[in-house]
Amino acid sequence: VLTARAVTRSFGPTVVLAGVDLTVAAGETVALLGGSGSGKSTLLRVLAGLDDAAGGHWTLPGAAAVVFQEHRLLPWKRAADNVALGLAGPDVGGRVARALAEVGLADRGRAWPAELSGGQAQRVAVARALVREPDLLLLDEPFGALDALTRLRMQGLLRRLRAQHGFAALLVTHDVEEALLLADRVLLLDGGVIAEEIPVRLGPAPSPDDPAFGALRRRL
Ligand code: ATP
Ligand code: MG
Repeated sequence: VLTARAVTRSFGPTVVLAGVDLTVAAGETVALLGGSGSGKSTLLRVLAGLDDAAGGHWTLPGAAAVVFQEHRLLPWKRAADNVALGLAGPDVGGRVARALAEVGLADRGRAWPAELSGGQAQRVAVARALVREPDLLLLDEPFGALDALTRLRMQGLLRRLRAQHGFAALLVTHDVEEALLLADRVLLLDGGVIAEEIPVRLGPAPSPDDPAFGALRRRL
């Protein structure tokens, strides 16, 4: 659902993306790891079409949705209205209610963003992405700001929703465990290119002795 070739982006003399090639197949989850400042967010913004100064070729499915690290809810709109943003067609109310129920917030649709906890607001942002029934989700450290327990719950939620909806995902994360838990493949962004690709067995939970752990830890 996503093919990117020779993606480049520089800020003045600083080359951040020096020719990134990557693909995400239908239904596949690919984790993108890399040090702070390696260009992960830049790459996601470029792929999402939010940066028109980039070079290279990429095609996105029409139905792609982005979840940013900060929830980016509009503070003057209630949770349900944030999810409904830009939606058209029949039964918007029903679709929004189902999306909120899927993230466990069936009863919080009338809440203002300021009345939600960080994890709840992030779940509203996930609902806002899901309600569009995307073929591809672009996720930029979506759980990075959450406490460990909430993060575990959100990781479980993402696995469950993916099994239900079958969407593909490109997941930017700092967290090696999260990458191994959620992804079919792990890519390492380093020096402006995909420096390494590590296949991961999708299992119930990754073992700390997994050789992929050691390989990734040495690189990060
Ligand atoms: P983190 O893990 O900390 O989120 P990242 O891998 O997402 O890091 P980016 O935000 O993509 O990193 O930034 C990559 C590089 O590009 C950094 O050196 C950053 O300073 C630079 N950069 C990003 N946006 C801009 C901008 N608008 N103007 C100038 N430089 C920028
Ligand atoms: Mg970033």
